[in-house]
Amino acid sequence: MGLLKEEVNLAIPMGRQFDPKETSYDAVIIGAGMSGMAAAIRLAMYDKKVLLLERHTISGGLNSYYNRRKRSLDVGLHALTNFAAKKERGRPLTKLLKQLRLPYEELQLSPQFESRVQFPEVGLRFSNDLDLLLSEIEKNFPHEKDNFSKLLHHIENFNEVALDNKTVMAKDEVRRFIKDPLLVEMIFCPLLIYGSAWENDMDFSQFVIMFKSIFIEGFGRSRGGVRRILELLRNRLEEVGAEVCYRNGVKKIITERGKVVGVVTDRGQTLKTPKVLSCAGYPETLSLIDEEKIDSNPRVGRLSFTETIITLNERPKDFGLKDTIIFHNNQNHYSYQRPESLIDHKSAVLCLPNNFRDDDYQEGVYRLTMMANYPQWRELKEKTPQLYKEKKEEVLQESIKILESYMPGFKNKEITFSDVFSPTTVERYTGHFGGCVYGSPDKSRDGTTPYDGLFLCGTDQGFLGIIGSMLSGISMANLHGLMASTPQNKGSTVQGNEEREISSSITP
Ligand SMILES: Cc1cc2nc3c(=O)[nH]c(=O)nc-3n(C[C@H](O)[C@H](O)[C@H](O)COP(=O)(O)OP(=O)(O)OC[C@H]3O[C@@H](n4cnc5c(N)ncnc54)[C@H](O)[C@@H]3O)c2cc1C
Repeated sequence: MGLLKEEVNLAIPMGRQFDPKETSYDAVIIGAGMSGMAAAIRLAMYDKKVLLLERHTISGGLNSYYNRRKRSLDVGLHALTNFAAKKERGRPLTKLLKQLRLPYEELQLSPQFESRVQFPEVGLRFSNDLDLLLSEIEKNFPHEKDNFSKLLHHIENFNEVALDNKTVMAKDEVRRFIKDPLLVEMIFCPLLIYGSAWENDMDFSQFVIMFKSIFIEGFGRSRGGVRRILELLRNRLEEVGAEVCYRNGVKKIITERGKVVGVVTDRGQTLKTPKVLSCAGYPETLSLIDEEKIDSNPRVGRLSFTETIITLNERPKDFGLKDTIIFHNNQNHYSYQRPESLIDHKSAVLCLPNNFRDDDYQEGVYRLTMMANYPQWRELKEKTPQLYKEKKEEVLQESIKILESYMPGFKNKEITFSDVFSPTTVERYTGHFGGCVYGSPDKSRDGTTPYDGLFLCGTDQGFLGIIGSMLSGISMANLHGLMASTPQNKGSTVQGNEEREISSSITP
């Protein structure tokens, strides 16, 4: 039985390409994550000769899917943040669709019902209508109502995507407005777990990005899940003539005196290029440099997750639950850090993808994400593979326990499918060292690295999440590929309205 009622055509085209057709390119993109694909589309739209090299057989990086027992399962993506209706111009989602020339309708986007931050004694519900959150604050934290309005005003007037913003600790900034420590913890809980590479705090610009994308704009889901979005991007890559090679990554970036001159692929081809844009991560990208390293040591991130997927015949609504995402925390303080043990038992994110307005699944699907300790999972996997399997089973049981607390009777239902992936799975499928989901704590907001011609996009440029990463690919391509006055740009077709469009969207 397929998991979805209606399967979209998501297979990678037959005869997919492994080897590059040429030996020289205007730009090589490392990784077909969301940001790499968006960057490649933008550059190819302006007639750049672009090659996108992806190590795996499919695109999507952290946001992807797999097939198991005739089911097609999403991994990574719980929800598309930054929901916007078609008419809402100037929103991150509508901006990115415009830049990539993707029609809104093709996303087939369906909004969430509502989501919740659930602490032991209090829950805060929110939806794609900010009024719900405001009424919840008034109900549960009446003494903070005015302070919250002031914080909201500050957030709405803050330019979070300016590439020269100074680093400011978000908790200090929020505490200038909100005095109740419990409310501070509850506000931060979803924003940290959905997009912070730092433990227990985040940069204020990143806080504002996440606040707007989750609490103000909200969640949606494409019919067919992440695969629909990936198929749209793959089709667009083909239309604009960007070359994509799967199962052929970049083994080496060739530099001469600190300047990029080419790459060597996993399959041994040497290619010339003056420009490389990478979504593989900051430390991961620098590890590909072949000459003596310029002194720069971005740290490897410490945050990774387990994810449990369970299917039942029953849907959440059969248990009376209409939440789309629940940010669960069983103490008044929210601890967002690498746990001391294999997983953190105190908190989890429950994703109930049936609970978008359009439910295209054939059965009930339950996903649960918990913070996990990468080094411990790595050691188990390498030294005691049997124990590794047993520990994954324990994660499944723990997930069932949490689901049972929201849906009494859940544990007695017949599980039709289950799977658990660990931080080592994340590392294997994304190449991110340490299975770190949000990359290095050291970001490069303008995408530059110590090497001339080598740029970052995606996670380690700093715009996280699926919409953030695509906007990152677009802005970095605009900034370093289309606006830069390199000899390669001479004679480019970028002029007039196009130039205005590019420069106005260097920051999303
Ligand atoms: C469990 C989980 C849940 C998430 N939930 C959400 C969510 O609900 N909503 C949301 O918006 N975001 C979510 N995210 C975050 C989102 O997935 C990421 O922010 C986004 O996908 C990052 O995209 P990226 O382009 O930076 O690169 P990545 O997705 O990290 O992709 C990097 C790509 O580079 C490739 N690569 C690496 N090294 C090389 C090499 N040397 N040569 C060639 N290719 C290489 C990898 O194979 C990979 O395809 C989630 C992530 C996880 C793991």
